[in-house]
Amino acid sequence: MSKPDYYEILGADRNASKDEIKKAYRKRAFKYHPDKNPGDKEAEEKFKEATEAYEVLSDPERRSLYDQYGHAGLGGGGAGGGSPFGQGQGFDLSDALRAFMRDFGGLGGFDEMFGGRGGGRPRTRRGRDLQVRVKLTIHEVAHGVEKQIRVARLVECGKCAGSGASPGSSTKSCGVCGGSGQIKQVQRSILGQFINVSDCHNCGGDGVVVESPCKGCNGTGVVRGEKTVKVRIPAGVASGNYITVSGGGDSAERGGQNGDLYVIIEEEEDDFFERHGNDVVIDVPLTYTQLVLGTKLEVPTLDGHVLLKVPPGTPSHKVFRMKGKGIPRLNSYGSGDQLVRVVAWVPDKVNKEEAQILMDLEKSLSDRAPRVK
Ligand SMILES: [Zn+2]
Ligand SMILES: [Zn+2]
Repeated sequence: MSKPDYYEILGADRNASKDEIKKAYRKRAFKYHPDKNPGDKEAEEKFKEATEAYEVLSDPERRSLYDQYGHAGLGGGGAGGGSPFGQGQGFDLSDALRAFMRDFGGLGGFDEMFGGRGGGRPRTRRGRDLQVRVKLTIHEVAHGVEKQIRVARLVECGKCAGSGASPGSSTKSCGVCGGSGQIKQVQRSILGQFINVSDCHNCGGDGVVVESPCKGCNGTGVVRGEKTVKVRIPAGVASGNYITVSGGGDSAERGGQNGDLYVIIEEEEDDFFERHGNDVVIDVPLTYTQLVLGTKLEVPTLDGHVLLKVPPGTPSHKVFRMKGKGIPRLNSYGSGDQLVRVVAWVPDKVNKEEAQILMDLEKSLSDRAPRVK
């Protein structure tokens, strides 16, 4: 009898990703696990088969061998054995259970992956995560800044301190689920029996019910509100970077854990400074005379003004580099540079006197000026 195909066993496509393989195995292992099918030999066989298939297909090297040569590629029949557990003989149940425990931590952890909760503890609620955008000037980016951000979010109800119970009343353990927050039902199918775990319909999974709901929040424990959050933004951030404020999101219903707040950075454009990575570029207009004769000038940087010496005979659009005057590198040392581009300024109008001076200059220079032939 030839061995069945590993992909068929798992019900997975041949091109399935590692995750899809894992999911497919999970589904089968969950269904056929011996703890869920006591005494069922057929389920045990299927569990073993699925685990063996998973052991091979979840290992890139073995999977590639199997894809190319089938079971023979794994050395089946001869020395080395066809079982991923080594020497020749098949794969026994204890091997399979061990592999399953190693990969998924047993059925308890397994339940968790399916949204169940194993140990019968009520779920801890968690508030929603929120996002807020914050605009920064280039100066704030260069120096880092502390921002106070107002966030519209769900906050704990002040009337009931988040419990959801009206003052004076209290919460009590849910009678339907006995406080565990979940209901287990044994179901039978042609594949055997399994246990279906779902959230309790009476308490929504909390395990407790409110005797008399708070009027301020309709028993939810949260109300719409606003909070101001202080965020320290380090120097060197860029658009799209974000800072996580742990617990800065929505409060959870009836006293759970707050969600987080993601503060997303957005850089504002600046009139003078243009950012290129950690460098900044600035254009400085100079007169023709300044470029020809040279000059000293105070140039703005993100750290105040700095003296720049422009030597005589500087062509328009020449770029001067000011080392370390750019933006600090995030999570690293040092800063980028500032690039100063001097650009000839051309007046849109001159008076008679100026025109005369320029014409005299033109006469004097015209012989030396380069020509395009
Ligand atoms: Zn309330
Ligand atoms: Zn309940």
